[in-house]
Amino acid sequence: MPDAEFDVVTIGAGGGAYPAALRLARAGLRVLLTDPKGALGGNCLAEGCIPSKTMREMAAHIRLHARLTGDLADVGYDRIVAHKDAVQTARYAQHGRELAAAPLVTLRKAVARFVDRHTLAIDDDMGRTTVKARHIIVASGADVFLPALPGTDLCLTSRDLFRRNPTLTERPASLIIIGGGAIGVETASLFAALGTRVTILQRGPQILAGMDMDMVVALRALLDPGIRIIPDADVTAVERTPHGLRVHYTCAGQALQEEAATVLMAIGRQPVFPEGLGALGVAFDKRGIRVNAAMQTDLPHLYACGDVNGRLPLFHAAVRESLVASHNILAGNTPCDYMDYTAVPVTLFTIPPAAQVGLTGAVAKAGPSIPELLETAYAFCDDARAQMQGDTGGGIHLFFETGNLRLRGGWVVGIDAAQLIGEIGLAVAAGLSAHDLARFPDQHPMAAEGISHAARTLL
Ligand code: ADP
Repeated sequence: MPDAEFDVVTIGAGGGAYPAALRLARAGLRVLLTDPKGALGGNCLAEGCIPSKTMREMAAHIRLHARLTGDLADVGYDRIVAHKDAVQTARYAQHGRELAAAPLVTLRKAVARFVDRHTLAIDDDMGRTTVKARHIIVASGADVFLPALPGTDLCLTSRDLFRRNPTLTERPASLIIIGGGAIGVETASLFAALGTRVTILQRGPQILAGMDMDMVVALRALLDPGIRIIPDADVTAVERTPHGLRVHYTCAGQALQEEAATVLMAIGRQPVFPEGLGALGVAFDKRGIRVNAAMQTDLPHLYACGDVNGRLPLFHAAVRESLVASHNILAGNTPCDYMDYTAVPVTLFTIPPAAQVGLTGAVAKAGPSIPELLETAYAFCDDARAQMQGDTGGGIHLFFETGNLRLRGGWVVGIDAAQLIGEIGLAVAAGLSAHDLARFPDQHPMAAEGISHAARTLL
């Protein structure tokens, strides 16, 4: 006999879980959220986007101030960390209020594991209970991937930098980042802006593999020139020295080394699977749990949302996936809503930022059967807001389908990229054309003027 029964149980309480929980409760369903953190927000709030972007925001302001005044403000790393902690605390309180306003949602600070297809064992400080669920959402997220190399334990991870009361409390004079993916390059940019000497050791020839390479080339030209990027570096070991840490690596068959005060391991993240998943008969591999467009696994009542399905590891993608799952649960597991990945914005929160959405030039070149694209651009050197900010590098690139001139994608490098990609993404999702964009009076003097300006060049 189970100890309790719920309409829906979620494993995890991050972006892949709680939007669904709140939606389902609004429709009258009883939902149990389980998460060992005992709070909503998952890793995004605990150690990911929120804290890292808060610190990045402060670093970008310090840089803006320095650019416009010539003075590099000495804010102090402790104050940057204190602000980050305060933002996290405020958001936890906000989530607490959301929960209090949803009496049909219960959150338990616990780890869940599968007993069978409808039964979960829930372990917390009080012991074990068993719950039965008509529907289950697996949203157990992803975790830092640590390689089995000597000295891995000497390295920090993003968790040590960004969690509340982080391990790293002082800005290091020098930092080696192992891994040139989004987390590695964003962190490099953040610390370089604060004055740290940063070196990225990148295994392959290119940083930011998987992003539009034209955008990456444009971004690299604008990143802090102090950031050293060593490509084709295969790290073999990390060891302690009297002054800090030494990283051993091979490059083109040569054994080389680099030293720094601190080393960050940022070679990727891997999905976290709840115990007992393997016995259920759903397909999954090291990349994630297989789902259809309705976010269902091979079992129609069992959904997998967020990083655990390996589709697109971004909080906003997880939120939409979670809502798709909730709608399909309300429809009795007969799908009525589907996830569309064609217009999900992806931003690199570097300084300056870079962002892309949809079908872009470099992606199009690599793909076999996609429409021919017309590219049009707007350079920030002519932009009023960029001039005000003293930051006129980069620009907006839009990609339209030839013939009907429908916007299929775009990328932005430079000021406000993370904001601009939202407007571009919405236009892609809504199927707007160059005519539609050209007719829209984008606000002056904001960088979004460049979107309608670029569209008008085609007409
Ligand atoms: P997403 O954005 O994909 O929802 P996150 O990584 O932000 O992913 O959140 C996933 C959450 O799932 C984390 O807070 C983690 O603590 C939690 N979690 C992982 N495994 C379990 C489990 N077996 N039971 C309950 N919660 C879990």
